[in-house]
Amino acid sequence: MADAIKINGGCYCGDITITSEVSSDKIMACHCTDCQKFSGAPFRAVAVIAADDVKISGTVSEFLKIAKSGNERLQGFCGKCGSHLYATDPAKTLFMIRTGCLDQHHDLVPAKHIFGKSAVAWVGEIADSSWVAEGPASGAMTPFKKA
Ligand SMILES: [Zn+2]
Ligand SMILES: [Zn+2]
Repeated sequence: MADAIKINGGCYCGDITITSEVSSDKIMACHCTDCQKFSGAPFRAVAVIAADDVKISGTVSEFLKIAKSGNERLQGFCGKCGSHLYATDPAKTLFMIRTGCLDQHHDLVPAKHIFGKSAVAWVGEIADSSWVAEGPASGAMTPFKKA
């Protein structure tokens, strides 16, 4: 049973804004090595949405990534602040919006994790690590507990 979730967001500097709606079963986390490399992060989470349902304002820079398989993907980002925004096919029919740039990202729970074969080994253990609320010297906390 999928819910439609209205989403909005954009890049860090605010030059680019995104509004759309995503079905809750169309949210994925990708643990492939390309996602790790592009993001500089352990994995990327995306909302998969047809191009007709996505409104993007502002000038997006794009990099054409060609995978080892020959698959071509446009990587959209802000040329000013560097925020990663989406990936899409060269014909721009289907967008994968990075959920980290969306205001609702806490609610955008991946329905599926893909490329698990390259997921970092520690990702399943982060809840058991040492956590503090803000900077390194701030107070200890237990993560993932709703207030
Ligand atoms: Zn920006
Ligand atoms: Zn990936």
